[in-house]
Amino acid sequence: MGLLGGKTAVITGGAQGIGLAIAKRFVTEGARVVLGDLDEDALDVAVKELGGAGVTRGLRCDVTEAEEMAALLAGALDAFGALDIMVNNAGITRDATMRNMTEEQFDQVIAVHLKGCWLGTKQASLIMRERGGGSIVNISSLSGKVGMIGQTNYSAAKAGIVGLSKAAAKEVAHAGVRVNAVQPGLIRTAMTEAMPQKAWDQKMSEIPMGRAGEPDEVAKVVLFYASDLSSYMTGTVAEVTGGRLI
Ligand code: NDP
Repeated sequence: MGLLGGKTAVITGGAQGIGLAIAKRFVTEGARVVLGDLDEDALDVAVKELGGAGVTRGLRCDVTEAEEMAALLAGALDAFGALDIMVNNAGITRDATMRNMTEEQFDQVIAVHLKGCWLGTKQASLIMRERGGGSIVNISSLSGKVGMIGQTNYSAAKAGIVGLSKAAAKEVAHAGVRVNAVQPGLIRTAMTEAMPQKAWDQKMSEIPMGRAGEPDEVAKVVLFYASDLSSYMTGTVAEVTGGRLI
């Protein structure tokens, strides 16, 4: 059966990177998974990689649009008849120091991370509380804990996700819905591949374990929160950083 046998999960931004690694872990543990992402071609590839329509669906979804989020969650109910786990993972970066950052860059990042996470948490929890419970995992970042130069938009959004998760956890705990957050550090994905070498080296020098993390190392912690292994945990934040900036 696995840790997630018989469960259905929705993962936003699930076509690549950390989201896809989470999907792989979940499927290995017996879950059926619905991926929401902007990139339909990448979604098709991901669904095939995960084992096809029997266990996976991919739906185009812009997490900043309430109707599209609702359609994604309805897609999970239509395909697999349940919604037990929601992972709000979709993300972008629009880095620039504050003097150079445009309002558009600020608004885009707040919309995808903070509003997207709020829409996903709100809509998923409404469905889960009617069905007797569930687990919501929100992907924050170390940048939301310590603040990073060039990321006033991203740090604000990722810190906001922590507050959102704790407030939501208090609101829905009585209905059997848990809400937790994960703060990855430097993880090897398309998002960090674009980083200049100097910035990469600087970050590496801050990591006691001396290496970047792999997407699956985040996925394993998300699996812990999604499963009954964390049945008495809500409103918490797990750092997955190799000890960076502890
Ligand atoms: P990737 O860029 O590899 O994947 C993010 C996915 O989200 C992409 O497929 C992207 O699609 C999708 N996406 C972007 N905007 C939207 C949207 N509006 N609606 C739906 N999907 C969208 O990033 P990672 O896997 O590295 O990051 C995953 C999460 O982890 C993010 O929230 C990120 O902030 C967080 N994180 C990552 C860290 C890292 O070091 N990699 C560290 C800390 C946190 P498209 O490619 O089409 O834009």
